[in-house]
Amino acid sequence: MASIINISSAKADNNSEKIWLSPPHLSGKEIQYIQQAFEQNWITTAGENITEFEKEICRVTGFKYAVALNSGTAAIHLGLILLGIKEGDEVICPTFTFIATANPIVYQKAKPVFIDSEPDTWNICPDLIRKAIIEGIQKRKKPKAIIVVHLYGQPALMDKIYPLSQEFDIPILEDAAEALGSIVSLNHFDKLADISILSFNGNKIITTSGGGALLTNNQSFADKALYLATQAREHFPYYQHSETGYNYRISNISAGIGRGQMEVLEERVKQKRQIHTFYQEAFADLPAISFQPEPVDTFSNKWLTAILINAGYGVTAEQIRYILALRNIESRLVWKPLHLQPVFRDCSFYTENHLAEQFFKSGLCLPSGTQLSEDQLYKIVNIIKSLY
Ligand SMILES: *Cc1c(COP(=O)(O)O)cnc(C)c1O
Repeated sequence: MASIINISSAKADNNSEKIWLSPPHLSGKEIQYIQQAFEQNWITTAGENITEFEKEICRVTGFKYAVALNSGTAAIHLGLILLGIKEGDEVICPTFTFIATANPIVYQKAKPVFIDSEPDTWNICPDLIRKAIIEGIQKRKKPKAIIVVHLYGQPALMDKIYPLSQEFDIPILEDAAEALGSIVSLNHFDKLADISILSFNGNKIITTSGGGALLTNNQSFADKALYLATQAREHFPYYQHSETGYNYRISNISAGIGRGQMEVLEERVKQKRQIHTFYQEAFADLPAISFQPEPVDTFSNKWLTAILINAGYGVTAEQIRYILALRNIESRLVWKPLHLQPVFRDCSFYTENHLAEQFFKSGLCLPSGTQLSEDQLYKIVNIIKSLY
């Protein structure tokens, strides 16, 4: 067993170029689409870039309709509104995710019911969803929607979650913010959700600088999403509004970036998976390190390579994060479970063995940028290996 490393003696390395967790990686084509928008003077919330970007999203995901928006969070918010989530409703939500998954539930004055992870993918546990639904029905408070997240790109166990949605007639809102390019159960992730959302934030597998999209096969959902995203303006020669809307539409400039990025999505997935394989091979002989699993019938875009560090071997995840940071390398602890967040202290939580909390204690996301060089990858791996 390695001795506990002496953190106070570790030295900062300010000379090498910073390695980020997952920075934007442009294709070079983005600027042409932006240029085009300038030339056409279509630089706001309508134009060819938006239309073509949405078409491309539909082609890649298999959904019939895509509405491009200015964030993934906005897409979740509109998705919940379309599913009729209102004040006092309960919405099933994984605890092990980014807070943006759950915040829109609160925007609607509804209540998240947090569900622990399962061990096979680290995503929301189907057995606990069933338990929460049954207890909800017994309290005459049947949950109104199930939010599923595909964490770090790894698809959740949709084969088990989808039948629950059917059995209890509860719609699924799929937060695929991290999972563009992933495949669920050898189907595209689209087939099983009523509404799916994507994020194009700067650190996601592709970016629009900031943006998101709502995906659906239901035309009335798509029409309503667009209407709500543009201040719920109705078709009159003057401004007419019967409902409260939002300013959630994407700009034609951002969509231009998205168009250029869509052209390299497949390549980015390949690169992310290569990075993951590199780490897996490099740490194969280190029993302290294990990886987020990828069941055989799923395909992850490996947006971030997430590992668990068994502190029994002498080093904790936080110590590794800290040592890497001193060497100018950004890694990140996995999400802190939402049921532990002070802002959600009053929410209910279903668990059997507190898996998400265990992941939080020992989980780390390694640098996964698609521009990482082999030298940089070796550097990261060697720093970690030297601790054992
Ligand atoms: C990034 C992310 C979001 C939010 O997307 P934004 O575009 O940043 O609003 C939502 N859910 C998950 C799981 C995410 O990782």
